[in-house]
Amino acid sequence: MRIFDPHIHLTSRTTDDYEALRAAGVCAAVEPAFWLGQPRTSVGSFVDYFDTLLGWEPFRAAQFGIRHHCALALNPKEANDPRCAGVLDLLPRYLAKDGVVAVGEIGYDTMTPEEDKALAVQLELALAHGLPALVHTPHRDKLAGTRRTLAAVRESGIPPERVLLDHLNESTVREVAPTGCWMGLSVYPHTKLDPERTVRLLAETGTDRVLINSAADWGRSDPLTTARTARAMLDAGFPEERVEQVFWHNPVAFYGASGRLDLSEPPPVAAEEGDRYLGSSLVRGG
Ligand SMILES: [Zn+2]
Repeated sequence: MRIFDPHIHLTSRTTDDYEALRAAGVCAAVEPAFWLGQPRTSVGSFVDYFDTLLGWEPFRAAQFGIRHHCALALNPKEANDPRCAGVLDLLPRYLAKDGVVAVGEIGYDTMTPEEDKALAVQLELALAHGLPALVHTPHRDKLAGTRRTLAAVRESGIPPERVLLDHLNESTVREVAPTGCWMGLSVYPHTKLDPERTVRLLAETGTDRVLINSAADWGRSDPLTTARTARAMLDAGFPEERVEQVFWHNPVAFYGASGRLDLSEPPPVAAEEGDRYLGSSLVRGG
């Protein structure tokens, strides 16, 4: 089965992960810009990061047969750091680039006035650039955060079918279902959903407007939870078309609204042959 992981931070993962992802059927991914675990100290740090998400990482992914696109944004946590405020002025130049299929991840971390502003400005940018928006919901105070996010989405005027609310759980998915926004479920060890909980949730929500991701990053996470959840859906009796809808057709529909998805098979390249991106190959010292 083909799997499209709509939210995975591949720059944090190894080539072994890439190999395992492709072997498990993952052949497309969207990598949203996020927090790196320690604060960035200047806008220039984002310039290099965005360039990596548009250049080096798709190059690396293609060598394992995976199509890589990205979503770019100032993440909710660093929206509070005045040293990063200039990223909002940098974004229009980057959102015009071909590999960018959404604005994201945006949303709330601790729900400060600075986060309100960054969210509103970036929803406006998504609207102006005709891009979908990937919106993270906060880990603490999730229900209140989700309600406040939905209010910001309504206020922005962006059509709900262009918005994905991510990291939902049993309590928040019910808030989002009637709004027409897409619903993102992150299957992530310990802190988010596991495959079994996800399958029970799907029995309630159905498979329309639902995207399932690994959200794998530099934390203790597992890039293969999409494939494990697909298996769990089949084991629970979901027909194959429903599983394909969630893991392929839904992400293609959501990000395809950007007009920039390229899902053709990347040309086969053996890393040993020394293929180069800006002079570098995956063979270190090769
Ligand atoms: Zn993320």
